[in-house]
Amino acid sequence: MSEYITMRNELLAKRVIKGLDSRNMTGYYAKDREEALAQALALIPEGSAVTMGGGMSVHEIGLVKALKAGNYNFIDRDEIEDKRAAMLAAYDADVFLASANAVTDDGILVNIDGNANRVSAIAQGPRKVVFIVGMNKVCSDLDGAMKRARNVAAPINAQRFGLSTPCSKLGTCMDCKSPDTICCQFLITRYSRHKDRIHVILVDDNLGF
Ligand code: SF4
Repeated sequence: MSEYITMRNELLAKRVIKGLDSRNMTGYYAKDREEALAQALALIPEGSAVTMGGGMSVHEIGLVKALKAGNYNFIDRDEIEDKRAAMLAAYDADVFLASANAVTDDGILVNIDGNANRVSAIAQGPRKVVFIVGMNKVCSDLDGAMKRARNVAAPINAQRFGLSTPCSKLGTCMDCKSPDTICCQFLITRYSRHKDRIHVILVDDNLGF
């Protein structure tokens, strides 16, 4: 990152963190992936049951690797045959890890989902939710965040999972109702009823999609 991008991101992150605070959520700014990893681990006590519902950014900062190597009960849904049991276990986890599809500069989180296991666990269940969010996902308003989620994140995820959707072929959202659509549920997190439940680590890097 050039120093000018870093200066801009630091200023923007302050605004996002202030917005999160006004919504009963806690924000942090990490200047790189290493700092983000240290901040995330500081939020996860040893012995915690931890799980996640996708999220490339969580992998990209090395958090999954660290949790698997450390003294944590990391519930890896990819290693559990019974997918329904894995999803249900997530609701009772101590910590749920995620990355947002977009966040507004005043602290609203936007996530879309096909199966809805991820958005439902963000909304309710796990005692703590820790988001890892690259500054590339910060948008100036809710409309911009929704557009980002549908025209950037969703088409890339559709391609990643080999889904037959218009966006996986055209690179942008066509508002489909195809059987493979991953835009079944939209979660807009504008306030957290429970203090200290939602934590958002903003990282001065391009992470995820
Ligand atoms: S609604 Fe359909 S075309 Fe649009 S992003 Fe979602 S899956 Fe892709």
